[in-house]
Amino acid sequence: MAQKKRWVVTGGAGFLGSHLCQALLGRGQAVVAVDNLITGRRDNLADFEDCPDFTFIERDITSAFDVAGPVDFVLNFASPASPIDYARLPIETLRVGSLGTEHALQLAEKKGARFVQASTSEIYGDPLVHPQREDYLGNVNTLGPRAVYDEAKRYGEAIVSAYRRSRGVNAGIVRIFNTYGPRMRLDDGRVVPAFLGQALRGEPFTVFGDGSQTRSFCFVDDLVRGILAMAESGHFGPVNLGNPIERTMLEFIEAIRELTLSAQPIHFSPLPKDDPKQRRPDIHRARELLGWEPEVSLEEGLRKTMEWMRGVIEAEG
Ligand code: UDP
Repeated sequence: MAQKKRWVVTGGAGFLGSHLCQALLGRGQAVVAVDNLITGRRDNLADFEDCPDFTFIERDITSAFDVAGPVDFVLNFASPASPIDYARLPIETLRVGSLGTEHALQLAEKKGARFVQASTSEIYGDPLVHPQREDYLGNVNTLGPRAVYDEAKRYGEAIVSAYRRSRGVNAGIVRIFNTYGPRMRLDDGRVVPAFLGQALRGEPFTVFGDGSQTRSFCFVDDLVRGILAMAESGHFGPVNLGNPIERTMLEFIEAIRELTLSAQPIHFSPLPKDDPKQRRPDIHRARELLGWEPEVSLEEGLRKTMEWMRGVIEAEG
């Protein structure tokens, strides 16, 4: 990044948001993180909080908010993002995805900033088309427990499109598939911290359903590169960002067992309602528009994540 620009990252104390802040600071940019800390954590900022180019504002963006001074980019990453978090915070999730997204768009409009919306593979729901391309319209149950996230993110895409069309906001949308790495909360319920935590503690692996459902896991550093490429590209998209290498949950456990040399048993329990049976991004558009593709293997990404988690578990005592 040649010139120093000023970036606002909503959800900046979350898993993805904090990695974005750190990557931007590392590229010589100025960063303002905005977060109400309902699922984000101050600890996630510890590695760069003292950087003179970094500012943290504790604020709930479901109320209108302003940031003093110029803003060149707004990255809208505020939302609970794990199924158990958004089940626990259903109204908050709907409100941040709708009201929060509009307030972030208003900031971008006022400042003349480029806006990037964190959308999600969840907008495809339990997909009937596989792998998922950006032109697939999805299969979401509007009444199910996951709808609070899925529909908020679908609304988010609609309002971002509307602000682009009718207000001229320079906006882009990325649809993020399963991503993992350091700073995921061990108790956020997602499968990577769940299984790695279980491997490190010697507890049984908790598989939901028969373990034949698939996901495609992207390491956070790869994802951050894609998001920043999208921000700088000026494209609208939407663009899928994720790693197309797909695994069943049982295959995923095998990869963790090899890495951790753990041999504990698997405990099976019922599949949660509306849990997607398969998920894999088609990333042709990201390759063409952004020249982006993932580079970090699952083994390498899991090793880095595990080293970080081991430190957290040891610190817990
Ligand atoms: N899963 C599991 N055991 C766990 C946590 C998750 O088998 O302890 C399964 C979950 O049912 C889903 C997949 O792992 O099929 C990925 O779940 P996650 O919550 O990470 O993300 P999702 O892709 O469903 O949003």
